[in-house]
Amino acid sequence: MKRAETLAGWGRSPVVPGCEVRSEDLPRITVGRPLTRGLGRSYGDSSLPAAGDPVVASAVLADRILAFDPDSGTLRAEAGLPLSDLYRLFLPRGWFVPVTPGTQFVTVGGMVASDIHGGNHHRDGCFGAHVTELRMRVADGRIVDCSRTEERDLFRATVGGMGLTGHILEVTFRMVRVSSPWLWGESERVRNVGEFVEVLGRAAADWPFTKGWIDCVSRGKNLGRGVMFRARWAQGAEAPAKPPTPKKGFTLPMNLPSWTLNRLTARVFNGLYYQTHPTRPASVIHPDVFFYPLDAIRHWNRVYGKKGFTQYQCVIPHSSGPRALTRFLEMVTRPGVVASPVCVIKDCGPEGDGLLSFPKSGISFAIDFPVRPWTQGLIDSLNDLVVGEGGRIYLAKDTFTRRDHFAKMEPRLAEWQSIRRQWDPEGRLRSAQSERLLDLGPTKGGSP
Ligand SMILES: Cc1cc2nc3c(=O)[nH]c(=O)nc-3n(C[C@H](O)[C@H](O)[C@H](O)COP(=O)(O)OP(=O)(O)OC[C@H]3O[C@@H](n4cnc5c(N)ncnc54)[C@H](O)[C@@H]3O)c2cc1C
Repeated sequence: MKRAETLAGWGRSPVVPGCEVRSEDLPRITVGRPLTRGLGRSYGDSSLPAAGDPVVASAVLADRILAFDPDSGTLRAEAGLPLSDLYRLFLPRGWFVPVTPGTQFVTVGGMVASDIHGGNHHRDGCFGAHVTELRMRVADGRIVDCSRTEERDLFRATVGGMGLTGHILEVTFRMVRVSSPWLWGESERVRNVGEFVEVLGRAAADWPFTKGWIDCVSRGKNLGRGVMFRARWAQGAEAPAKPPTPKKGFTLPMNLPSWTLNRLTARVFNGLYYQTHPTRPASVIHPDVFFYPLDAIRHWNRVYGKKGFTQYQCVIPHSSGPRALTRFLEMVTRPGVVASPVCVIKDCGPEGDGLLSFPKSGISFAIDFPVRPWTQGLIDSLNDLVVGEGGRIYLAKDTFTRRDHFAKMEPRLAEWQSIRRQWDPEGRLRSAQSERLLDLGPTKGGSP
């Protein structure tokens, strides 16, 4: 058992009173607990305890692979298994996860609860699309198996349900065969956001993995410029004979002063990045470099100093067109706002069956902002725009969205709430995020 006085997510804001109970016996430590968390890589308050309910379960010691069938690729694992273990063990043997986020330091339970997406969303959907079964401890203490055929509603509400329908104990999903453990990819400089939409759309047909870095500081003629990256698994002679060896990273040893990130430093960084990333023809790429560039710096979140940061990730439907995307970029680059150089643009495909799952067909922006007095106001105005365009935000990144904004973005919320209330009529499962965004109190008059 590990105890700490306070808990925080990856953005290190908010910091709340709380502690984790850790054990290899995840079924035991989830009894009566309000929430389970994984490696705490969600940015905001989704993995944090609600006020007055400070002890949460941690899945990280329940990390065993329970079964693997090499004919079908079906793998069953305890919820605390880190993606980094799967990557290290399976890629040299010709297997990879069907969907990966931008860090390998997440658990499979966290990947289900956030229904994570990657650069292949336009082709393969979210991680949940490849999950076949979940074993859960639900609020009344029972252990329940659910899938698309058994307790289907519980399954749909849990995929992307941020841990609020029950504790995920085991996950069964399909790994995919890859042609080699190396990637083959190219990059292209892009002049503005309209061009980004075009190149993302064109690349979707031929490339399983697409994403772009977008300059969220420059304005005027440089508004929305960036670099587009596309890749697929290398084939035959394209791949070096030896499997890739893990890249050595370094650790940021301490918090940097909060002023390190300002408009000037961000503008200088972005200018240099753009100039040093010209259009490049296809070549072999190390998967660490393509999938997990930020993992090379351990504790990179210390760059933002003690006050922490938030990541705002939204999706704006394709039907809104470049006009809405330009308006969005004008808001994040306006004087007084400091966007960090870590800004990603992605193309999302159609939404999946997870009822609170984030992606829907459209263009997604993910942008880091330091926590400052202006952050709440900025996110309120970005959310006004996103609501107006029929888009939505990603709960795994969120800290600042207001309840009324979220309700307007989520036409699926009522159905999710109704399923959740059937499984947890007393509102036992809670998080700091659910207290802020959702009404999860006890059902009046018992079960609905
Ligand atoms: C550098 C970086 C890059 C990222 N890139 C992407 C990306 O490309 N795409 C993407 O989709 N996400 C991305 N993320 C977000 C990350 O993938 C998700 O936040 C993921 O859920 C974190 O997993 P975790 O194990 O750390 O979960 P935590 O952060 O600990 O928890 C996240 C949520 O899952 C719930 N949860 C965790 N384990 C369980 C369990 N066993 N049972 C029930 N509920 C549980 C928690 O209660 C919480 O609501 C990124 C994060 C970082 C730091």
